[in-house]
Amino acid sequence: MAAMAAAMAAALRGPGRRFRWRTQALAGGVRGAARGVAAGQQNYDLLVIGGGSGGLACAKEAAQLGRKVAVVDYVEPSPQGTKWGLGGTCVNVGCIPKKLMHQAALLGGMIQDAHHYGWEVAQPIRHDWRKMAEAVQNHVKSLNWGHRVQLQDRKVKYFNIKASFINEHTVCGIAKSGKETLLSADHIVIATGGRPRYPTHIEGALEYGITSDDIFWLKESPGKTLVVGASYVALECAGFLTGIGLDTTVMMRSIPLRGFDQQMSSLVMEHMESHGTQFLKGCIPTCIKRLPDGQLQVTWEDRTSGKKDTGIFDTVLWAIGRIPETRNLNLKEVGVNINPENQKIIVDAQDVTSVPHIYAIGDVAEGRPELTPTAIMAGKLLAQRLFGQSSDLMDYNNVPTTVFTPLEYGCVGLSEEEAVARHGQEHIEVYHAYYKPLEFTVAERDASQCYIKLVCLKEPPQLVLGLHFLGPNAGEVTQGFALGIKCGASYAQVMRTVGIHPTCSEEVVKLRISKRSGLDPTVTGC
Ligand code: FAD
Ligand code: NDP
Repeated sequence: MAAMAAAMAAALRGPGRRFRWRTQALAGGVRGAARGVAAGQQNYDLLVIGGGSGGLACAKEAAQLGRKVAVVDYVEPSPQGTKWGLGGTCVNVGCIPKKLMHQAALLGGMIQDAHHYGWEVAQPIRHDWRKMAEAVQNHVKSLNWGHRVQLQDRKVKYFNIKASFINEHTVCGIAKSGKETLLSADHIVIATGGRPRYPTHIEGALEYGITSDDIFWLKESPGKTLVVGASYVALECAGFLTGIGLDTTVMMRSIPLRGFDQQMSSLVMEHMESHGTQFLKGCIPTCIKRLPDGQLQVTWEDRTSGKKDTGIFDTVLWAIGRIPETRNLNLKEVGVNINPENQKIIVDAQDVTSVPHIYAIGDVAEGRPELTPTAIMAGKLLAQRLFGQSSDLMDYNNVPTTVFTPLEYGCVGLSEEEAVARHGQEHIEVYHAYYKPLEFTVAERDASQCYIKLVCLKEPPQLVLGLHFLGPNAGEVTQGFALGIKCGASYAQVMRTVGIHPTCSEEVVKLRISKRSGLDPTVTGC
């Protein structure tokens, strides 16, 4: 069977090289590609490689528009052997298990609050990792199943195979069993996402370290954990690990949350520090060794002093960024260009790669935010452009996001630094406030880092350029204001918006103090 597929692949490769595949632009999309279809080869209007956020959304939308669609998805186990089902990063090893574990940590804080509100909670309270992990994993498995059912309902053909191109219109997929399948299509969308990066130059990194691909699937508690990195993944994971009571250290080589507003990022870190997360600032790991008792001895270097130090941990979690999944797709063979610096696929505003009928969306595409909702929207819009009557492009301006650290940080639009860089300090007005969420008062919680700022143009009507919110439920707060900012809200309009009392959101519509005024921005009274 493998020999037959190899012969077919060779047959297809030959003519593929000799002549360029031609496509004809027709109303509502590009159809009827000239193609040699080998016996046994399956032919589709749209083939999507990658069944994650972007790929599934694109496939389902195309099927709803009446097209013959296939999705191929295959999860290569992590170096530690963790594997999962259909749905991609977000569902299995990203947003979903992360948010649920964040919730587990928040509940710990609420149990502490509870006695202030009259609840009698037996002390000491204990957290059971096994129970949490099992519940989270069961939910993820139900989502895997849900995705398969949705594909079936929409008549999208699903193949659990690892795909790579054999020519511009044909992909060969290999199943776990080694069985090969040839699939061809008029249009091919690459939505293969990315995987965590390992610092392979560090002794013991691959052997003893884990990543976000493993943490949510651990059966046993990770115990005392060193998290290396200081961006979204690192701080979110360190946040929930600390919150469920684990001794957690973040090793940060430079700044927290690069790319985000740095005043807000510092507050996020300050809050984590004051709630038990330890930070090794300006340090990089150099070596990991396993001790006879199974613990990990980590050696690191202080980048300023050059001084070396060591520590003992149960788990080392690498959260040092992600590598796009382009290595195994045979892209060079078919002429799909990637950026050699970061291996991402180069696309234009229409998501088209250097090959006109091959597209890339989501994390694998160059210059796109690595977020689920943007991947989903890009996938849907692409399907509508290809098979509907639409010409709508994805708009990557004012994409809201939230970092689910113990004190959540939500933002939309420009950071203060970006606003100043684009418009000049003299043209920017920043309104800000330190506030105390009502629920913190009775619970006697410290609210030192609960802070909001609205970055506006100074010239009336003071267009809002960015909102930054640090506090409880930041995602819920930011989502609503994102609509206003997308619609071009001005500071004057925000001030004319009636608040909902008593909430944290209302603090946004009460922001009266500008940074320029130098007045104390602490909210007093109700
Ligand atoms: P993916 O979801 O990664 O899907 C790609 C799929 O393609 C995978 O299933 C992969 O196995 C498969 N694949 C790869 N190569 C092949 C091949 N050759 N053949 C077949 N299949 C292949 N975003 C948010 O918006 N909010 C969050 O709270 C959030 N939290 C996150 C937390 C963590 C820990 C991480 C790591 C990410 C988080 N993200 C979050 C980011 C979000 O998960 C991604 O942006 C999103 O999943 C990208 O979707 P995608 O479709 O581009 O790729
Ligand atoms: P990022 O690329 O955003 O950050 C990588 C981090 O690792 C930085 O702090 C970087 O430091 C550090 N780092 C890189 N290399 C090394 C090294 N060799 N040694 C030590 N530290 C190193 O990656 P993430 O994995 O955190 O996030 C990837 C993407 O996933 C994000 O951009 C985001 O879009 C998405 N995501 C979204 C979430 C959400 O919406 N809530 C949650 C999690 C992820 P330095 O700054 O010095 O380069």
